[in-house]
Amino acid sequence: MSLVYVSTSIFQSEQLLFTPGTPTPDGLPLIFAFPNTYCVGITSLGYQVVWAMLCTRPDLQVSRLFTDVHEPLPTAPELLGFSLSWELDYANILQILENLNIPWRSAQRTEAHPLIFGGGPVLTANPEPFADFFDVVLLGDGEDLLAQFIDAMQSVRYAARTTQLLTLAQIPGIYVPSLYEVTYQSSEGAISSIHPRSPEVPAQVHKQTYRGNTLSASTVVTPKAAWESIYMVEVVRSCPEMCRFCLASYLTLPFRTPDATQTLIPQIETGLKVTNRIGLLGASVTQHPAFDQLLDYFAHPQHDQVRLSIASVRTNTVTVKLARLLSQHDTRSLTIAIESGSERVRQIINKKLDNDEIHQAAANAYAGNLKGLKFYGMVGIPGETEADVEATIDLMVQLKKEVPGLRLTLGCSTFVPKAHTPFQWLGVNPKAKKSLQLMQKKLRSQGIDFRPESYNWSVIQALISRGDRRLSHLLELTRHFGDSLGSYRRAFKQLQGQIPSLDFYVFQPWSTDQVLPWSHLQGPLPTPTLQKHLSMATDLM
Ligand code: SF4
Repeated sequence: MSLVYVSTSIFQSEQLLFTPGTPTPDGLPLIFAFPNTYCVGITSLGYQVVWAMLCTRPDLQVSRLFTDVHEPLPTAPELLGFSLSWELDYANILQILENLNIPWRSAQRTEAHPLIFGGGPVLTANPEPFADFFDVVLLGDGEDLLAQFIDAMQSVRYAARTTQLLTLAQIPGIYVPSLYEVTYQSSEGAISSIHPRSPEVPAQVHKQTYRGNTLSASTVVTPKAAWESIYMVEVVRSCPEMCRFCLASYLTLPFRTPDATQTLIPQIETGLKVTNRIGLLGASVTQHPAFDQLLDYFAHPQHDQVRLSIASVRTNTVTVKLARLLSQHDTRSLTIAIESGSERVRQIINKKLDNDEIHQAAANAYAGNLKGLKFYGMVGIPGETEADVEATIDLMVQLKKEVPGLRLTLGCSTFVPKAHTPFQWLGVNPKAKKSLQLMQKKLRSQGIDFRPESYNWSVIQALISRGDRRLSHLLELTRHFGDSLGSYRRAFKQLQGQIPSLDFYVFQPWSTDQVLPWSHLQGPLPTPTLQKHLSMATDLM
């Protein structure tokens, strides 16, 4: 990756749906980066929305930076922000810092360097593996938090770096990792304590929750996005189902649903002025109480040419009406997450779904003229046995017989424990690898398109997901060795005796009394509630 390449044509393809402010001459120079290519970054609704919020402020001069293109960059940026939505993109953050001649570690930065801040779902869930790389992390919804962060930064713009950080740390939701000290039982053991380094620093940082009635919608439409010329609308935030492994639900609670007439339809109409491709986003879009009203809106003849894309939907909301509407609007396939074909496993994870509803969803998809149905499954779910894996295989084979005209796909991941969920204390089940192989063998021979996610990369995801600050050394070495799976192995070998083992982070169950790497960061639900949900699951295993 080089930082000499400035593409103007790629930015000229954009249609902006907001009016940028005119920066004042002394506007604070800020680079807002996405640690992946333009195509990936500009398809992130979160990145789009934060960028637009920053650009409307005349007290900032904002330049965008992706791994392949960037706008003209300031010579002396004062802030450099990253939106991180995929764990493994951290390697690109290190690369960007290197290209900008900024030290990787916050401790090595001086007054001459910009403050490095970050936000997004990965950092909100568990920023600790990256804590030494960031000066500031914004935890939670950006709507109000971002403005508070910039206002506070402006108020101490000319102060010393230490004063800036201490001031920022006073704001709820703003986490300054260097102001907390972590101690360990031993170099390879668990954490023994996490304390603020001074009395002015809050002992707990609370993730922020936006309570307004308007969620996000695209601020830019471009043919260069991964979903070409799409206008995205966030229909719901969070999910009320609370499946016990699910970060998309637990981390973003409560479930929020903007008003359809007052908010969603006007947003969609804004999008339809510039494109005919609309994406409805959210963890459980069809659970919006007025979802039927949205379907009726798109069913109107004046919207016949609209191409409608919809995020994964809840299985029991796949009606013939929904399937027909989608097939009439250029969607050929729908995705539903069933997690497992075993009713017992679904009870363990609190997925309120029975097999009859899955069969009915497939029948409805077919009756509504969809060409394909994609299922999401997971293996290695706590309490899962080989019989449960066989139950998933049997279910898919049965469905294939029932709806032979429907192209069936099963995408399958491995259970990865996530911070702030009830399963945060549980490890990855190493038997998952064999389960994926078994499914591959049995499903492909039946003509079912089986798409497993890499087990080995799931292990790395779990490592980062449950990692603590000691991992920063491993991540640096891994980067040095080339970012492959083998690089992680090599880095662990080199650091043996200095940091805990892969087994400790990934596979071992952790005691509910243990100090977690994110114990000082308060998510939506208190720890005793998560423990209660865990014990309800354990009773069923
Ligand atoms: S239904 Fe889907 S989005 Fe909702 S909690 Fe369960 S897995 Fe998460």
